[in-house]
Amino acid sequence: MVEFDGFGPEKIIEVYHPKSGMHGYLVIDSTALGPGKGGIRMTPSVNMNEVAKLARAMTWKNALAELPFGGAKAGIIADSKKLSPEHKKEIIIAFSDALRPVCPDLYVAAPDMYFAEEEVRVFVETNGSMKAATGKPKDMGGLPHELGSTGFGVFHSTLVAAEHMGLEIKGATFAVEGFGNVGEFAAKFLTERGAKLVGVSDSKGCLYNEDGINYAKLDEIKKNTGSVVNYPGKVLPNKDIIKLDVDILIPAAIPNLIIAGDVDDVKAGLIVEGSNIPMDAQTETLLHRKNIMVVPDFVANAGGVISSYVEYTNGTEKEMFKLVEEKISRNTKLILESSSKEKTPRDAAMEIAMERVLKECRICKIDYEMFPI
Ligand code: NAD
Repeated sequence: MVEFDGFGPEKIIEVYHPKSGMHGYLVIDSTALGPGKGGIRMTPSVNMNEVAKLARAMTWKNALAELPFGGAKAGIIADSKKLSPEHKKEIIIAFSDALRPVCPDLYVAAPDMYFAEEEVRVFVETNGSMKAATGKPKDMGGLPHELGSTGFGVFHSTLVAAEHMGLEIKGATFAVEGFGNVGEFAAKFLTERGAKLVGVSDSKGCLYNEDGINYAKLDEIKKNTGSVVNYPGKVLPNKDIIKLDVDILIPAAIPNLIIAGDVDDVKAGLIVEGSNIPMDAQTETLLHRKNIMVVPDFVANAGGVISSYVEYTNGTEKEMFKLVEEKISRNTKLILESSSKEKTPRDAAMEIAMERVLKECRICKIDYEMFPI
């Protein structure tokens, strides 16, 4: 049974299509600020509870980014890697057909795990409305992932946080966990601004070079050899990225990178969460008590959803970069200024997001003891 509270979910939809074997879920958590927005994931293990939790996270992320979207998420139970292309297409067509009563009026789809732009193409073509999803291929008016909107947002969040704590970005040392879409662009923009990249990791290990890592050379080595560990320097286990003596740490790969027991190993004074849930809220609190500033994921990595909104309104690449910069900078500043010794930046961000949803919500019923705003 999916947990619910005064915010939502508003609708939980389970759909089947026996002929194709399609079985999936859509959870529309909240439409207080607009149609529920969130990606579709296609994994063998996806279940209603997982989808509901992710839908709730989208409610807060969209509210905090001040987008006219509510929160939603969808999941199709299927092993994408084992399906033939024809069978996969059949399943997506069946899923899109089944969601037509609510999409695009109450739900706008997007890519997520094992559901990339070509899968989005099938979903949108079946639905018939270009507003059915964002993350579309470029020839359908999509703003491609390769533009690096999320990494660009993480970069701006880092600039604002560094300024807030009086850290000069030029010459500041930083390390990035993961050199994929988010980590790569965050590293690129930060090095271009004069920060010194000294550590970077991927699934093969952690590379440390205290003399500084040249971004262009690193990018070339990653593309040619498949791993950042082939760049000259010391190779450590990938988890050691959290122990490096740096000013700034940017998690941009796996969940739960830092656990409560790691807190004393962290040397960075600023952590900007590029990945989703790189640590739980309790670990953030422990770091906060040690005066380590942590900019939470749904604030720092909202560049992707902001880019989705620009695509939804048929905007251009240029407009996307401008809006990501404006929104991420403003919201990072707002939550850092609203946080205090007793209140972590995540708590401050949650209060702001909840207030924004409550202000527009006609059906929310909130237990103020549970949510002391
Ligand atoms: P990606 O698949 O492009 O890159 C992931 C990178 O992580 C790869 O370089 C991989 O080698 C590395 N990696 C895997 N295991 C690792 C490990 N144990 N240690 C270090 N590195 C490891 O993924 P991405 O799109 O960059 O997403 C990264 C994170 O950011 C995910 O948590 C994702 O949910 C989140 N996120 C992404 C976006 C986006 O727009 N791409 C938006 C919001 C949040």
